[in-house]
Amino acid sequence: MRLNVPGIASHFLRSRITKVCVAIAGATPAEMIEKASSVVKETPFLEFRLDYLEKPLHALPRFRQFFADNTVATGIATCRRVANGGKFAGSLAAELEVLTKCAAAGFHLVDLELESAEGLKKSDLQKLRDTGIGLLISHHDFTGTRDLDSIFNRIEAFHPDFIKVVPTARALVDNLTLIRFLERMNDHSNIIGICMGDAGIISRVLGVRAGSAFTFAAATLGEETGPGQIAARTLIETYRIEQVDAATKVYGVAGNPIRSSLSPIMMNTAFRRETVNAVYLALQTTRLSDLLKLVHEIPIQGISVTMPLKREILSHLERTDPLSARIGACNTVLRAQDGKLYGFNTDVAGITGPLEKRMPLAGARVLVLGAGGAARAAVFGLREKGASVFILNRTAETAQKLARQSGSKTIRLEALAKTPFDAIINATPVGMAGNKAAPLLEAKDLNTKLVFDLVYNPLETPLIHLARQLSIPYITGVEMFVHQGARQFEIWTGKPAPEEEMFRVVLHALRQQAELAAAEAAESGPEAKPAARPKSEAKSRPSAKPVAKPAAKPKSGPKPKPSAKPLAKKADKPKSAAKAKPPAKPAAGKSAAKAKK
Ligand code: NAP
Repeated sequence: MRLNVPGIASHFLRSRITKVCVAIAGATPAEMIEKASSVVKETPFLEFRLDYLEKPLHALPRFRQFFADNTVATGIATCRRVANGGKFAGSLAAELEVLTKCAAAGFHLVDLELESAEGLKKSDLQKLRDTGIGLLISHHDFTGTRDLDSIFNRIEAFHPDFIKVVPTARALVDNLTLIRFLERMNDHSNIIGICMGDAGIISRVLGVRAGSAFTFAAATLGEETGPGQIAARTLIETYRIEQVDAATKVYGVAGNPIRSSLSPIMMNTAFRRETVNAVYLALQTTRLSDLLKLVHEIPIQGISVTMPLKREILSHLERTDPLSARIGACNTVLRAQDGKLYGFNTDVAGITGPLEKRMPLAGARVLVLGAGGAARAAVFGLREKGASVFILNRTAETAQKLARQSGSKTIRLEALAKTPFDAIINATPVGMAGNKAAPLLEAKDLNTKLVFDLVYNPLETPLIHLARQLSIPYITGVEMFVHQGARQFEIWTGKPAPEEEMFRVVLHALRQQAELAAAEAAESGPEAKPAARPKSEAKSRPSAKPVAKPAAKPKSGPKPKPSAKPLAKKADKPKSAAKAKPPAKPAAGKSAAKAKK
């Protein structure tokens, strides 16, 4: 392996750069400078996408002023041409003219595409270098991850200060290819490696862990300049990229779609709170083989498994707990030191835990709406606790099958008004943001002491709204989400989960999402009505109490039924489990689905 001998310029540059470089884009110089001015206080390493501007040359005096006003800033100038995936419509000569003038404008580095470097005369490239500006040569492959070593060699031939290799991840394993490449190049401290695309999101964290000099981030959510880019604050605060090192354990949530999952913010918050040196990533995949290769080779210590992999993963586990095997789904995988995978189902605890805080489940009469994955977790969990379970599902046969398997009963919609329940659980997507289906139940059907809607986005679903109007105590899906996540944390770390903190960040993120959606709806025209903000959201305080509490009597609307006594005491705050169990391997005999050897 050749040793890279950095010049004085490289040493100087390296002393100024941080692990995150924020990409600044905008249609006008003023817009870019405004963004940069707000970002630079937190993250002084900035990439200015000059190719987004109509006349980049004209903008240079404005940037000179910016660097004079912000001496802490370190700036990369990028003027990528259209042919290389950028927005600059000018010629190679025009690109060179812009970049050559960037040193005088106060920039510290220019990003030149490999194709441009190879297209330039030696003397022209020398003119650029003679300005004293640092040179970063980059290569972007928008189609896949291949030939990384030969791309490196082509770039290295120019002896730049930094070498940037950016392929596209089509699958999770492409991240592995990049990571192995970065590890092979560990004699070089001037390489930047990132995989673009949703499947490549993990490379933005793991690349730095494997030796990438830094990584790129968007200024804010929605301002990405590359596919899969993460907002700077998320990288720094949620993923704690500045602290990630070779000893950092890796966990993740796997499934599809995963980009907007709230699990990373919840679990990374828990790791930070409990000072666990671990990072939790979004693993976008539909293929189990893709995920399993990553799990074994990174290695990944634990996975939250979501759709569509919850069932399929069972046959790859060494053991599962008995309930997961009966439900036929596993949402939590622990990778033991010997590399074997053990499965658990914390969705069950996510449902029975919040209910048990409010009522004894032995002998309770519970109606479950739905017969899919979440409903199965509810039904088997409740049956195990001795509850009497009734199932109502759109497809009657599925309900009958689940009832047979679990020793439950099925029930028809017409019978609900006359059948009292202790709790009604919605385990269908009806009420979820974007789901247009009509509500399943009317006021007359809520002959119950408690409503539990597993849907957590929006915070106040139509069913919860109805329960609130009827003064029926309710539990929102957020509580299940946090509760199941807290149990995962405990299985993986053996520490009690900081459940209250986890609840707080999830609630906050959901509120932000709702506000963003409302703002977007308002922006999209006077016709478009923003989604009504739930009443419980009226005061958006991050410190809001974590558990849904019985709402005050509505001023108007139907009178509460006599049976609707608020049986859930005032919101119990989720407490950290007093004694978290160590990450025990499931004690059950080998799952029916024994690992394929
Ligand atoms: P799933 O396996 O796809 O099952 C969906 C169930 O809902 C099926 O029984 C389906 O009936 C029924 N259904 C779907 N659309 C319907 C409609 N328009 N009208 C009536 N019934 C309908 O999904 P899942 O994994 O069980 O998840 C269900 C919901 O639970 C999710 O949407 C999610 O919001 C929530 N959930 C929340 C958490 C949490 O942590 N809070 C965790 C997991 C799930 P058919 O059998 O007729 O298709």
